[in-house]
Formats: sequence, structure tokens, C-alpha cells
Amino acid sequence: MTGMGKLFLISAPSGAGKTTLVRKVLNRFKSLFYSVSHTTRSPRKNEQDSVDYFFISLEEFERKISQDHWLEWAKVHDNYYGTSKKFVRNCLGKGWDLLLDIDIQGARQIMDSDLDLVSIFIMPPSFEILFQRLENRGTDSREVIARRLENAKLEMTQKDMYQYVVVNDDLDEAIEELCSIFEKEIAQP
Ligand code: 5GP
Repeated sequence: MTGMGKLFLISAPSGAGKTTLVRKVLNRFKSLFYSVSHTTRSPRKNEQDSVDYFFISLEEFERKISQDHWLEWAKVHDNYYGTSKKFVRNCLGKGWDLLLDIDIQGARQIMDSDLDLVSIFIMPPSFEILFQRLENRGTDSREVIARRLENAKLEMTQKDMYQYVVVNDDLDEAIEELCSIFEKEIAQP
């Protein structure tokens, strides 16, 4: 029987540069699959259904909670996010390595499960830079940014529950550091 695939969890406060880093990792490690999450939030411009997220209604999300569809789910910034249990189990069962970009509440749920995983937390270099990045992104209102910053503060206090912490100060360095984690962990049986 072939071995199980490995599960990689990446969490970061919004604005830490996680999306860019995740994209780089996926480009470099072609055998790595990305778990597209489900969310009740509206798509941002440039986001595509089934690629960035499966955008679903609150009703559907709640129905799937009652059907035990989610491996993990969480309410983040007033929206719901969840990972399909079936998808993850299928991929891992086929021996495929899988990358999950999920928040800290979801990560905790998976850490409490029996799944073999590698967990990584991406830190912004400072709170000021995080604020600036969120502002420059121009996608969110002041109110939303304030809420995201509050949440980021809270999340950053939890970084020690992750096996690896990568500080995204210099982007190129952070990419290399992150990729070296994947190189090491993917190579291990
Ligand atoms: P955004 O709305 O900015 O795309 O994501 C907001 C937060 O939700 C990010 O921290 C992201 O990692 C998290 N997130 C995305 N998908 C999932 C998921 O399936 N489960 C959980 N728990 N969090 C998720």
C-alpha cells in the first residue's frame, strides 16, 4: 500500500503576505495540491469561484455543518470558512500532499485530530507594516481593516502552537525559508 500524503497547514494574520507565499510554494512544488476552501464571504475582484474559494450561501454552509461535511470550519471576520473532509481524506489516501491555508481556529481543530501534519505560521515583521499592507491592498473598508488587525493581534499570540514560524520581512528570504521547510518535510517518508 502506498503511504498517506502529508498535510501542510499554513496560517497567518491577513496582510502577512500569505497568499503570495502560498502561490510561490505551489508553483515550486508541483506535486503539492491546494485545498480550495468554502466560504460565505463575497468574492473580491479578481477572485474566481472554485479556484480561490467555493463561494456558497450561509444556508448551504450551515446545512453542511449538520451533515458533518467539514473537516474543520470557523467563523472569521463575520464570515464562515470550511474545509471539506471528504476532499482532504481522499487526497491524503491517494498519497497526495495537500496544502491548507486556514485560520488558527481551524488549524487547532485539525491539530486535535489524528492527521499527520506539518504546521506553519507566517508572521508579519511588525504590526505597523501589517496595518500598512492592509491599507495599501485597498480592498477593505477602515472598519474591516480594524477588525482584521484586532484578530491579527490575537492570532499572533498563538504562533507557538505551530511547528514552524516564518517571518515575512524580506519576501525573497521568506519564500526560501518556506520552501526549505517543504523540501525537508516532503522528502521525509
Ligand atoms: P480571506 O477572507 O482574507 O481570504 O481569509 C480570511 C481568513 O480565513 C484567512 O486567515 C484564511 O486563512 C482563513 N481561511 C480560509 N479558508 C479557510 C478554511 O477553510 N477554514 C478556516 N478555518 N479558515 C480559512
